[in-house]
This record gives sequence, structure tokens and C-alpha cells, in this order.
Amino acid sequence: MSDQAFPFRSWVEVSLAQIAANFEALRKVVGTSVEVMPVVKADAYRHGAIEVSRKLEQQGARWLAVSSTEEGIALREAGTKARILVMADFLPFTREAMLAYDLTPVIHSLEDLEELNRLAAARGQRYRYHLKVDSGMGRLGVRANHPQIGEAIIGAKNVDIEGLMTHFASAANYQTSQTDEQMQLFEQLAGELSSLGVHPALVHLSSTIPVAYGRRSAWRNMIRPGHAIYGYVSPARGHAPPKMLHVKPALTWRATILSVKEVPAGALIGYGGMFRAPRPIRVAVLAAGYADGIPHRLSNRGQVIVNGRLAPIVGAVSMDLTSIDVTESPETRVGDRVTLLGSEGKVSIDAQQIARLAGTISYSVLCGIHARVKRIYV
Ligand SMILES: *Cc1c(COP(=O)(O)O)cnc(C)c1O
Repeated sequence: MSDQAFPFRSWVEVSLAQIAANFEALRKVVGTSVEVMPVVKADAYRHGAIEVSRKLEQQGARWLAVSSTEEGIALREAGTKARILVMADFLPFTREAMLAYDLTPVIHSLEDLEELNRLAAARGQRYRYHLKVDSGMGRLGVRANHPQIGEAIIGAKNVDIEGLMTHFASAANYQTSQTDEQMQLFEQLAGELSSLGVHPALVHLSSTIPVAYGRRSAWRNMIRPGHAIYGYVSPARGHAPPKMLHVKPALTWRATILSVKEVPAGALIGYGGMFRAPRPIRVAVLAAGYADGIPHRLSNRGQVIVNGRLAPIVGAVSMDLTSIDVTESPETRVGDRVTLLGSEGKVSIDAQQIARLAGTISYSVLCGIHARVKRIYV
């Protein structure tokens, strides 16, 4: 990764080569009979949906998954030719646009299936859809034991079921049987549908975790990894099988130092006087704060990397500014670059470490990087 400073208050450097390598690692683990559909929702977990999708398409991705019609349209308008699955939409006010932009809907209820069928008839077109089954997560999807599922699929004569999918609630937790129970319900439904002559071409259950920990029976012929594309696999709980997937973070987050000064012993730093200098210290102020996505919970407990060394955050993280103690790095100057997330030499901080300190999850740390933080592709 570059050692360069850029003329920005705060920026992220995204390695598209690393994204490509992570995608390849996923393909290698699941083999050629399983389609890898990268999840690029939420602006590709803030890595930039358009650039990331372009790279993945160049690498051979035939499918991409987003959450909303709006996200799908942005990709189409940027020239994406791949199939795009919209996983969490089909709202009354987005349906028409979804179909007009050749986005493939995930259908979450039998009412919505009927509605899609009606739209297809009205427009004289056939549409393909993926049906989401709620196998026990209790969020989106048709409940797996709903007796009318097969009938509804067969009855929707103007549309074609292309995919059957479900989502796990506790895939990383090997102390509960929830995932096995979900799989059982899902497979039972798939079997019932098959006996009715309903054979969706694509069957998918797995996000990153069931791939990374080798839950092969959940791969079927498509997987939907998001986190792993960006270089993360959450730690498992309980007796998980060894990790089969090795990926690396693709994003580095930096900020510029706006001010450096000495403060005397006893000086209070920032809002609420949350930190008191135990001795004379050098304090540097970063031109980034919680409005950029630095979790406020890192106040007085987070760390950043300055000139290859860890430096503690002192006092409250404020909206646009964060103070750090650089006493151990006396060479620190205004305009220097610090690393909020990433590595310098042997020292590194990743989204998982930040999440642990901030009492949140790594997904939220990545998605929390604000749009005003400039993005550079390296
Ligand atoms: C976000 C999402 C994924 C990707 O999950 P990761 O844990 O990031 O791999 C897969 N499927 C669905 C339905 C999702 O909402």
C-alpha cells in the first residue's frame, strides 16, 4: 500500500487488486460448480460499489447483489452488464424501476409474488425472480412451512422462479443448532418444491461465514459473500472447523494531522475534560471525527498508527476532530498522515479490532465510514 499523503483531511485507499484476490480466493474454495455472487450493497461496504463492481466484473463475476433498486440502478447507469440481484426491496414505489433497469428481484412474500406476476402480465413481459424463504431467521422471506408456497409459484404463470434462497441468523455460532435447523427446513421445502416439478436453477444460502468455515452442504450452487470480498471473516464461536478461506482487508483509512502542541501535566483534553494529561505530553489533532465515521465510543480508548507506532486517542472523539497522544513520536508534524485503519510496517489495526473497542461489529465500522471521506484506488 502507498506511503503517500494526499491533500485531504481524511481518505480511504482501496486496493482493487486485493478485492480481486479475495474474489479469487472465494472461487478457489468453492470450486467451479458454485457461482460466486459478490455482495456490493451499501456502496460495497463503503469501498465504492461502482469501482468494486467494475473490477469484479473484469474478474469474471456474472452476478452482483445489492439491497435496493437505487443501488442497482447506480450500477446499471455505470455500465454494469452482470446480473444484479436486489435482495431487500420490491417496495411499491420501486417495482417499476426495478424491472425497467433489468434488476432481478428477491421476492419475500406470496403477495409480492402475485404482484410481480400481475406486473409481468400488464407489461407483456416475463420476469425472473429469486424467492426468499424464511427458514428461521425471522426477518425477510416466506415462512418455510407456509403450505401454499408451491401452489403460488406454479400459479404465477407470467414469471419464472430462477432462484431459491435463505439467510442464516447465527452462521458464526457453532454453539447453537440454529443453522442446522434452518438448513433442514430449507431442504425440506426445496424437496417439496422439486416433487411439484419446481426446480430453480440457482439455490443459495451462504454469505461469508458458511464458506469460510467450510459448511459445504450450505453452498449448493451459489454463494453470496460480502465481508470476505472486502477481506474479513468474523471469528466463529464454539468449535468451528478450521478456516478454509484466507482473505485480506482491501481498505486503509487515513487522516491528516491538523495541529500539534505540547500541553502541561494536568491539562484537560477535549469535551467534558475526559482526559487529563498525567505529565507534559504532545497532542496531535486529526482532521477527522465521528462525522467521518470514527466511532465516538473510541473516545479515550482507541488507537491510531503514527509513523509506524500506535498512538492512543485522548479525550472525546468530536465531530470533525480527534486528539491523539504523540509524545512517543516526537517527529510528528502538521500535515503528516496517520492510519486509522490499516497497517504501517508491522503495526496494524483492522475493522474487527476497532469494533471490539467500540462495542460494535466490523461491518458497522466499515459502513460507518462517511461519504465525505475521499476514496482513492491504489
Ligand atoms: C449482506 C448479505 C450477505 C453478505 O453477508 P456477509 O456476511 O457480508 O458475507 C448475504 N446475503 C444477504 C441476504 C445479505 O443481506
